[in-house]
Amino acid sequence: MTNIKPSLYDYTKKELLELIQPKFRVNQIFGWLYHQYVQNFDEMKNIPKALKEELAQKFVVNPLTIINKEVSSDGTIKYLLQMQDGKTMEAVWLKMKDTQRDESGEVIQEAKFTICVSTQVGCKVGCSFCLTAKGGFTRDLTAGEIVAQVVTLKKDNDHKHNRKINIVYMGMGEPLDNLDNLAQAIEIFKEDDGLCIGGKRQTVSTSGLSNKIDQLGQMDLGVHIAISLHAVDDKLRSELIPMNKAHNINSIIEAVKRFPIDTRKRVMFEYLVIKGKNDDLGSAKKLVKLLHGIKAKVNLIYFNPYPDTPYERPRKEDMVAFADYLINHGLLCTIRDSKGMDISAACGQLKEKNELSIAQERDIS
Ligand code: SAH
Ligand code: SF4
Repeated sequence: MTNIKPSLYDYTKKELLELIQPKFRVNQIFGWLYHQYVQNFDEMKNIPKALKEELAQKFVVNPLTIINKEVSSDGTIKYLLQMQDGKTMEAVWLKMKDTQRDESGEVIQEAKFTICVSTQVGCKVGCSFCLTAKGGFTRDLTAGEIVAQVVTLKKDNDHKHNRKINIVYMGMGEPLDNLDNLAQAIEIFKEDDGLCIGGKRQTVSTSGLSNKIDQLGQMDLGVHIAISLHAVDDKLRSELIPMNKAHNINSIIEAVKRFPIDTRKRVMFEYLVIKGKNDDLGSAKKLVKLLHGIKAKVNLIYFNPYPDTPYERPRKEDMVAFADYLINHGLLCTIRDSKGMDISAACGQLKEKNELSIAQERDIS
């Protein structure tokens, strides 16, 4: 196995200043990392060879390699990325808004993109509807592996460092179960001389580890949170998300109320809609009651089926009726359009598909 080294993307600028001499070289290296997106030390043209050799003994630049890529007709690109130890995880490039042009064809607003990043290989939470859960838990991602996902996808899409981008921690894994590395990655993304992605452009999605929601809040990183609620009573929620037994709905709602939220913003509640399970108006009514008094926004998500799942995608009319009920009762609500439906969109699905096709290839040979 190759010698696994820390990545330069693991460190804040302050930390690199402790690690690299002379200090002015750190400014140059930071530029190569976050403005030029270089893959290796060779590409750092103005850095002396001796320093590059010294650094290469201890560090790698980008710890990730793109090993598969699926492009959807709606502009979504799903990446399968491999790490130094050979393990793989996914990141997704999402087009949120097309380029706006005037009549003469002049660009008046550039297209807007969001990157969905992973925080773990696999996941310990074990949600019964989630493909990532099926493979169990392998390991936490390092801060550098989280940061490098954004750098790699920006580079692959020729997205300049100073163009705005949003990050959602909604890929594989439970971000709050890897809180230290998550917090480090959030800080690195915020670096003024780096990618300069502020907390308000970063959304941490959690299945609801209530004590960790409090810890994240106390770190005061200025990030948004999204709560994967999915059910309005503890019985169904515990069926969907087993650790709900330890962190029940009430404990999550209380933690959300304590979380420092920008007064202009709302907490997002994700509600995965599964046919015949939680798509009825009785559930919608309970949801309105549950979120009373919270500056909330609900994001309804169509369950995205995969082979051997007992759950089904809800009917469109039930989804719309559910959304209408929430809106008519004063809740902000959106239906997440199934971006990348033609390319195995939900978390864990590209990885699974790739492993399936690798397994099939092995069967044939
Ligand atoms: N672990 C975190 C973040 C990653 S999961 C969390 O659970 O919030 C990101 C989102 O993908 C979650 O909202 C989850 O509900 C959703 N998801 C998982 N499996 C899905 C499926 N089969 N169809 C649609 N969404 C799914
Ligand atoms: Fe983990 Fe989120 Fe999947 Fe649940 S939905 S198993 S918390 S990745």
